[in-house]
Amino acid sequence: MVEGFIVVAVVLLAAVLFAAWFTVRVITWIVGGIAALARGGAPARLAQSLPASGTAACLQASCRATNPQHARFCRRCGIALARDARGGPVRMRYVA
Ligand SMILES: [Zn+2]
Repeated sequence: MVEGFIVVAVVLLAAVLFAAWFTVRVITWIVGGIAALARGGAPARLAQSLPASGTAACLQASCRATNPQHARFCRRCGIALARDARGGPVRMRYVA
């Protein structure tokens, strides 16, 4: 009889721990969703696929990769993204 009580106690403990973990997960998920809505942005996985306002498309016609606005070179093809005084793309200079 004591063994049966221990089994029930262990199962109940596991159930309580799972319920607590599950509650924390749900609260984290809801808070994260509300925070994303408060920022006025789409979920992270959508923001990655869509060009955001803080990004600059690659100048290379065959690349067109989306790079951060502050990036100086394309992260995919390596072409210079910064523009010189004439408004044209800066040419990379190879040293040695
Ligand atoms: Zn590129």
